Amino acid sequence: MNVPEIFGENVFNLQVMQEKLPKEVFKSLKKTIDEGRPLDPTIAGVVANAMKDWAVEKGATHYTHWFQPMTGITAEKHDSFISPTKDGKVIMEFSGKELVVGESDASSFPNGGVRATFEARGYTAWDPTSFAFIKDGTLCIPTAFLSYGGEVLDKKTPLLRSMAVLNEQALRILRLFGNKTVRHVHTTVGAEQEYFLIDRKMYDARKDLVFSGRTLFGAKAPKGQELEDHYFGPIKLRVSAFMRDLDEELWKLGILAKTKHNEVAPSQHELAPIFTVTNVASDQNQLMMETMKKVASRHGLYCLLHEKPFAGINGSGKHNNWSMSTDTGLNLLDPGSTPAENGQFMLFLTAVIKAVDEYPDLLRLSVASAGNDHRLGGNEAPPAIVSVFVGEELEEIIDSLVKGVQYKGRKKGVMKLGVDTFPELPKDTTDRNRTSPFAFTGNKFEFRMLGSTFSIAGPNIMINTIVADSLRQYADELEGAKDFNAALHDLVARELKAHKRIIFNGNNYAPEWAEEAEKRGLPNLRTCADALPHFADKKNIELFERNKVFTEREVRSRMEIMLENYSKVLTIEALTMIEMAKKDIYPAVNEYLSELCSAAYRKEQMGGCTKSDRELIQKLSADNEAMYFAAGDIEKLLVEAKEVSGAEAAARFFADKVIPAMQRLRAYADEMELNTAKKYWPFPTYGDILFSVS
Ligand code: ADP
Ligand code: MG
Repeated sequence: MNVPEIFGENVFNLQVMQEKLPKEVFKSLKKTIDEGRPLDPTIAGVVANAMKDWAVEKGATHYTHWFQPMTGITAEKHDSFISPTKDGKVIMEFSGKELVVGESDASSFPNGGVRATFEARGYTAWDPTSFAFIKDGTLCIPTAFLSYGGEVLDKKTPLLRSMAVLNEQALRILRLFGNKTVRHVHTTVGAEQEYFLIDRKMYDARKDLVFSGRTLFGAKAPKGQELEDHYFGPIKLRVSAFMRDLDEELWKLGILAKTKHNEVAPSQHELAPIFTVTNVASDQNQLMMETMKKVASRHGLYCLLHEKPFAGINGSGKHNNWSMSTDTGLNLLDPGSTPAENGQFMLFLTAVIKAVDEYPDLLRLSVASAGNDHRLGGNEAPPAIVSVFVGEELEEIIDSLVKGVQYKGRKKGVMKLGVDTFPELPKDTTDRNRTSPFAFTGNKFEFRMLGSTFSIAGPNIMINTIVADSLRQYADELEGAKDFNAALHDLVARELKAHKRIIFNGNNYAPEWAEEAEKRGLPNLRTCADALPHFADKKNIELFERNKVFTEREVRSRMEIMLENYSKVLTIEALTMIEMAKKDIYPAVNEYLSELCSAAYRKEQMGGCTKSDRELIQKLSADNEAMYFAAGDIEKLLVEAKEVSGAEAAARFFADKVIPAMQRLRAYADEMELNTAKKYWPFPTYGDILFSVS
């Protein structure tokens, strides 16, 4: 495989644009892309035609506006390029209008009350900063999705808005440091993706995996991850064939797939791309997840992206590595080596620390889902308490700034930002803490609370907005300062002092941290039901309105969608459990019991059934009965849940009532699995599934 040759071959990228477009059109489009502005309508026709010719040459027959509604996945409606001619034939056509906006009946997408179904129209608008690409014979145009009233119905629009406000505020700061050359500040993201790969036959045999993406039953297998022999272990041939195929597909789509390895749990793996501009990283992560599923099926495998497919072993997350970069190639979170650079670095770092300390609730709720609730705080992922890791060295520097004392890394004198030399920071600050939810890793922050199925758009909307808001306040203050250096120093020292409580370098998995965090006044929002309602807190609505990322109506609709999603997911899981319990497990155990009973009966006639016969029969009968009634309890609760009014109260009801009932049901079933002969158990066990790929 010639990688440089195939890389991006299915993408209408800058190189193709330059080749296919008239010089002036290319220049205009390039400017639009660089500055993140909407497409100039006067060139749309030419661009559309060139795009179509290129796509048709590559065998495409259709185009689609590829968008990201609030379902968390992508949506596409394919239209062919055909246009009839007088002689009864067709030609391939694609107009500028069709490229720029698409209309789509939006009534069936989640909208959280923003739009009643009778006003069904939504429209999609091309995001020219994310290149069009060909997927399965269709030209895909990455687009934003809005209602006719202009309200956002998707994840891309607010992400672009948050990137725009961060750009605006970061530029103000850079100008204060005398930088006149930078024209644009982008946020960048590298999203590390974890996933499980299991044999397709195992997947098909489990209704819970099919309906809910995770196992709702399953006793612990004799072997799990305790030997720690899977992490970075040699990759099995079948998996490596999958990975090779996947890399090839991703490279063709212009995705910088870089690192692949086995993860902690058996059958678990990770893929990390090289970072890129956030909205592109977000589109590409969606494409990556979709491609993983597709390629897996070609290999007779199934790719599980759920946060917690199996109880008792690690679930899957997604690490969101985030930074800010200028169009001149400067990473704003890279510690510099001159005093001015260091002052600037410290200001941006402080802005992030302040942002996280003021809005930990927003970060937490941006990663809230029924699936991710299983991971956060489970000693495999960071807890639900948000804190920042900066490493010992930076913490000492922060301490000396706060206290106005000498930093031990310096020979003499109190450190002053901006005027004095800031101690040089090692560039490769190794991050030894893997337990922190928000860790500074040398030149970027790694937000580690995302679940593996998440669109990274949501969490990045939050990070961009809250950091932009810190920068706005800093710019307001510093723009009015008489002595910039003195004001900078005072601001950084004051702000670090005010927000130091969010910094924690210890073990975030330790129970003592929860206590300590409570003393520090940091929120611990354990479940979706605890976290999501904070979206509409007054301070948060004000933040989003101030930064023009969401209107109050948009915040409320999004919160509603997320809360409803939680209850819906749990309803599906509960119904699947009931079905499996009553239709599969109960009859299977009864059949086994019947065999046990007839054996015991015959033994009795031959001189006596044993104590073990009696005990097993009694135990299985009792557990099966208990499971049956536990399923009935859930049925009753689901009826009750329908009567609960309001999305918030419903979510609470599911968290407090339905989940514990589901756990009770599962406990009986898992116990019976351990006591039932293999040939009677109605589905593959954890051992079968987790070690299914050889
Ligand atoms: P690890 O977290 O496993 O130590 P790395 O530090 O090499 O791995 O990088 C993890 C991810 O962070 C990669 O996707 C990488 O491209 C990304 N990354 C590196 N620098 C930046 C940056 N400035 N902005 C955003 N992401 C970055
Ligand atoms: Mg990482």
